[in-house]
Parts: sequence; C-alpha cells; structure tokens
Amino acid sequence: MRQITATLINLYHVCHRELWLHANEIRMEHTSDMVTEGKLIGENTYTDRAAKYTELQLDGVKIDYFDARNMVVHEIKKSNKIEAAHEAQVKYYLHKLTQYGIEGAIGILEYPMLRHTTHVELTLDDVMQIKTWENDIEHIIASKHMPPVINKTICKKCSYYDFCYC
Ligand code: SF4
Repeated sequence: MRQITATLINLYHVCHRELWLHANEIRMEHTSDMVTEGKLIGENTYTDRAAKYTELQLDGVKIDYFDARNMVVHEIKKSNKIEAAHEAQVKYYLHKLTQYGIEGAIGILEYPMLRHTTHVELTLDDVMQIKTWENDIEHIIASKHMPPVINKTICKKCSYYDFCYC
C-alpha cells in the first residue's frame, strides 16, 4: 500500500491526473517557474521560522513549521488564491498529529502575497472524509490508466501543462 502524503491529499483536490502523474514519479516541476517562485517565497518569507518552530516527520508526512507551545501548524502558500486543496492539506496534518496523540492542534494557512491568513480546524466529519480521500487516492494512483485532462484555468499554471496539452 502506498504511503499517503499531504502533497497527495492536496493534489487529489486539485486534479486527479496531476495526482496520478506525481505519484507515479513523472515529474515536471523543474520546468516550472511557478514552482521555483513558490520555493523562493517559502524560503524568503518569515526567515526566522525555522528557528522558532519544529519540523515534524509523521509517517512520511512532513510538517515544516509546528509551533509546539501553541499547538499550531503554520503552512505558507505562494498562491494568490485561497484554495480548498490548501485547507485539505492542513487538515491532513492535523489528522496525522491526532494519530500520534497530539490532540487539539489548529492550523494557520498563510498567504504572503494576499496578506491573508485562514484558520483551519479538524472536525469529526473531516476525519470521516479523510478516510474517503485516502481510499480514493489509493484507487487512483494504483490504476494503470492516467485520468483525463480537466481543462480548467489552473492548467495554465500547472507544471504538466505542456505534457497534457501538446
Ligand atoms: S495541466 Fe491540468 S489536466 Fe494536466 S495535470 Fe495539470 S491540472 Fe491536471
């Protein structure tokens, strides 16, 4: 059984084809300016964070910034749009924490380009949903068939754009 990561949870909410490609190690990120830009924002925003917060590895799920004193997961997004996929990713972090006995943590999604933050909490309904996400993801990535293109605006910013549409 494939290890489910927060990245796979995020991609599941963005595009099942991208999920399948990424999970099957077909990567195009090196060709994407958006990915490079995102890394720069992550590295250059709040540069004191690494000293203040803890990096956690839970079952292959990596949480970059955990504030153990206040029980807060901080996640920075380069996007200029608030997306459900980001919230799902942070909920997955919170779920993993509870599986490791760390209850009551919350998430803060930070959008430096928007100067906006969103608070994320994990509900009982979310825990049920996460089980469904995990089952769906396993099913999608085990398939021999790549899911179809989704023809959405986000495709233009995707590192697989040329692969999907040329
Ligand atoms: S270009 Fe569009 S269809 Fe292709 S992987 Fe990216 S989001 Fe999915």
